[in-house]
Amino acid sequence: MVHPKIMDVINFDVCTACGACVSACPAGAITMGKAAEIRDPDNLELYTQGAAPNVCEGCLTCSRICPVVDGYYEDEFANVRSFLAAKSNIAGQDGGVTSAIARSLLRQGEIDCVVGITMNEKWETELELFTNAEDVEKAKGTKYTYDSVLSALRDPFNEYEKIAVIGVPCQAHGARLISENVNDKIVLIIGLLCMESFYHDVMQEKIIPEIVGVNIADVKKMDFGKGKFWAYTKDGEEHSVKIAEVAPHARNPCHHCNDYTSVFADISVGSVGTPDGWNCVLLRTDAGEKYFKMVESELEFMEDPKPGMGLIEKLAKMKHDNNSEHYLEVCEKFSFDDGGFR
Ligand SMILES: Cc1cc2nc3c(=O)[nH]c(=O)nc-3n(C[C@H](O)[C@H](O)[C@H](O)COP(=O)(O)OP(=O)(O)OC[C@H]3O[C@@H](n4cnc5c(N)ncnc54)[C@H](O)[C@@H]3O)c2cc1C
Ligand code: SF4
Ligand code: SF4
Ligand code: SF4
Repeated sequence: MVHPKIMDVINFDVCTACGACVSACPAGAITMGKAAEIRDPDNLELYTQGAAPNVCEGCLTCSRICPVVDGYYEDEFANVRSFLAAKSNIAGQDGGVTSAIARSLLRQGEIDCVVGITMNEKWETELELFTNAEDVEKAKGTKYTYDSVLSALRDPFNEYEKIAVIGVPCQAHGARLISENVNDKIVLIIGLLCMESFYHDVMQEKIIPEIVGVNIADVKKMDFGKGKFWAYTKDGEEHSVKIAEVAPHARNPCHHCNDYTSVFADISVGSVGTPDGWNCVLLRTDAGEKYFKMVESELEFMEDPKPGMGLIEKLAKMKHDNNSEHYLEVCEKFSFDDGGFR
């Protein structure tokens, strides 16, 4: 068995698959396979429970580091210290700022490692641990499917002292809870903005071939923007459908998620609020400001970017309006009292 709170999160299908519990459980009671990201909501084999049954030692760690148990902030902008528009010399998803920060900090020896998500031609993804600055670019580009980034930290927690995490808001949240409750090896959390993500099979078998109508092996980039989901193909063509056609197919936990901008990150990075090819960057903590200062000479900045912070706030409000009731309904079913908003 794993801890009952975690079992509730899984049973009510609101587990984001962030993987925090996998890395944090001292008993190794929780493991997660690729199935976690593509699982059928009716099939709760998300976790294969440790080598031995009843391996859980009841230490409560997992219940302290689960973002869904922890709950959400009503105001996810209260800790934003600065809003910037930046880009790098890396041809990333947007301005490549995420990869550039990780690359520079690895080069400077300020971090020992970071986990990235790489993919093959068919958009099948892998979690990869990077210790070499020049490898970081292998993970550039957004995959709108989900991989359990934090579960890949189990071994690095034993091997490295200065770990950076790059992840979507639920992963930034789990990473923050690990650093506050389990160990202080995560020195920097770069959180991406995120409206939703998709199971791998839904992306590969439904959204790209059926809804967008292209072969996934021909797609070189996917993106959300201007009310549409875009697939750019290798022949130079642009294919798009309204976001409303794909959003209902998002993973179930995403319909319960109330963090758009990675409120628990040190540095949040997205594209919204800035022109194409640029990143919006939100600095939120002392660590965020400290590490960003170390890399800013490698970035280009834009004064007074348009459409600006107002659009980020509008989209965050839309996510909260869509999802807060769903989340509170699930909280009522939990057999414990945590969760909810603060
Ligand atoms: C599922 C998802 C939804 C998003 N939704 C929005 C949105 O609504 N609005 C917005 O402004 N921005 C959104 N983003 C962020 C945006 O797509 C870019 O990731 C961000 O602007 C950083 O761009 P970059 O050029 O700096 O990234 P790059 O320099 O290209 O680096 C990309 C980094 O993201 C990591 N990564 C890629 N896919 C994933 C994934 N699925 N999970 C975790 N890490 C991943 C890679 O490992 C790499 O480190 C989303 C990202 C994801 C993954
Ligand atoms: S309570 Fe402790 S031992 Fe049990 S599953 Fe959670 S983290 Fe592991
Ligand atoms: S910590 Fe993450 S992976 Fe574990 S139960 Fe909670 S949401 Fe799921
Ligand atoms: S919408 Fe929330 S739960 Fe879904 S991937 Fe994004 S941050 Fe995680």
